[in-house]
Amino acid sequence: MKGKTKISIDYARCGESGRVDPRTCGICLRVCGPAVFLLHQPLGAVEENPYKPRQWRVTAVHLSLCTRCMKCVELCPEKAVTVTW
Ligand code: SF4
Ligand code: SF4
Repeated sequence: MKGKTKISIDYARCGESGRVDPRTCGICLRVCGPAVFLLHQPLGAVEENPYKPRQWRVTAVHLSLCTRCMKCVELCPEKAVTVTW
């Protein structure tokens, strides 16, 4: 596949300060066959109770595995995912 794939998530729509908590949606995580996305806590997140963290976001980490099927873009209810190359 030619060209490097770029995938970004709009954290104003989905993430610790967005409208959606990715733990309750998770559609991008489920529909992506090659499992490009990772659900994780933001770096440097300060939690009241570190054993029950409240801040989560998804990030595309395995970009080279992306097949550009665009399912994540089409099915994200918040239109928070952008895939370009
Ligand atoms: S475009 Fe397809 S393969 Fe690429 S991250 Fe989205 S769902 Fe996964
Ligand atoms: S599909 Fe969209 S709203 Fe749902 S977890 Fe992924 S980025 Fe967030």
